[in-house]
Amino acid sequence: MNILILGSGGREHTFAWKLSQSNKLSKLFVAPGNAGTAEIAINVPIGVNDFEAIKKLVLKESIELVLVGPEDPLVNGIHDFFLNDKELNNVAVIGPEKLAATLEGSKEFAKEFMMRHQIPTAQYKSFTSDTVNQGFKFLEELNPPYVLKADGLAAGKGVIILNDLNEAKIELKAMLVDKKFGSASATVVIEEFLDGIELSVFVLTDGDSYKVLPTAKDYKRIGEGDTGLNTGGMGAISPVPFASKEFMDKIEHRIVKPTVEGLKKDKMPYKGFIFIGLIKVGEDPKVIEYNVRMGDPETEVVLPRIKNDLVELLQAVANEKLSEVELQLDDRTATTVMTVSGGYPGSYEKEKEIKGIESIEDSLVFHAGTTIKNGKVVTNGGRVLAITSFGSDFKSALSKSYHNVEKLSFEGMNYRKDLGFDL
Ligand code: AMP
Repeated sequence: MNILILGSGGREHTFAWKLSQSNKLSKLFVAPGNAGTAEIAINVPIGVNDFEAIKKLVLKESIELVLVGPEDPLVNGIHDFFLNDKELNNVAVIGPEKLAATLEGSKEFAKEFMMRHQIPTAQYKSFTSDTVNQGFKFLEELNPPYVLKADGLAAGKGVIILNDLNEAKIELKAMLVDKKFGSASATVVIEEFLDGIELSVFVLTDGDSYKVLPTAKDYKRIGEGDTGLNTGGMGAISPVPFASKEFMDKIEHRIVKPTVEGLKKDKMPYKGFIFIGLIKVGEDPKVIEYNVRMGDPETEVVLPRIKNDLVELLQAVANEKLSEVELQLDDRTATTVMTVSGGYPGSYEKEKEIKGIESIEDSLVFHAGTTIKNGKVVTNGGRVLAITSFGSDFKSALSKSYHNVEKLSFEGMNYRKDLGFDL
């Protein structure tokens, strides 16, 4: 089978690494890919939203399955584009159709979905520029902290949490009236603050049956002790030690099952990964968000723990035969540490030569923002390389990841040294 992966991050390198272990794979393409995917697949310089160029590639290379990494092409309707094209509609696309992708593309849509299907989440109300005064009143009824969410995609920056009522009102006006996030904040969801510890659960579904994949916890802030600005993710740990069997049963019965059944009831065909962001409040899980694809860097710890052949798993999703597959997991803990460019998540320089990759032992190296220049691997983004290791617990896995990170170097290299501090 010829397969195309869309994307260029650590997530996509991990998918490529896992797919290339399958004897069912013939040729693997990644668009646009990075220096890591170039070693195991054919990189094609096509953007993930250039559907016409993707079509040409799929037809020319007889690609039978497209695995969509990031959310953008899904929210833009790549799956529908394939279904509606006579030459493409027999090609399997892993990732939901546009309507279901709205679960990530619109927070209000996601909240309404959760309400409709009685899925536990924070209480909320949504507002537009016409109802900004009602928004102020709603804020006055709530206790701090105040959680304000731009409805649309805002590159991970659309959620603002404030302790002060006046600041919250100013922010609400900035989002709704002054269009702080453009059309993404034309609607704002204000919700109850949930106090607890976060974790993520990943689900693979063919639209009917589902598999609950390993849990993970990621570290979003740039600074130690979860301080400073948000990043795409500085590292991750799987499984999450506090996710006991009892707690996972609650997640499956109260959240995963009603989500998959809700998609079916609402006639939103879904073939792909669902990433459910959760907060454990007391002993109860509540949903903070849905993402319609795998997470990055969570993929770098979740996929290595799946023993199944990934081509077989994805084929089962495409053919609606997932119920026939038995998921096999590695019981060990996997951790990943992300090395990032100096200055990230603010401005940073690119094209710094990366040294030491060849000296890494007993860990997996997943490339994120890297490329090849004059035959050398150089930095090409904020997040650069993820180093994944296994251990009997998260501490032993992390010590391997850190030991290997120390062998790497590029000008300005930074990474968090305290992953797992809260576990
Ligand atoms: P989201 O983009 O919805 O995942 O929100 C980004 C981050 O904001 C989450 O990862 C949480 O840390 C935080 N957050 C979102 N909603 C809430 C909430 N209702 N209560 C507390 N924290 C929240």
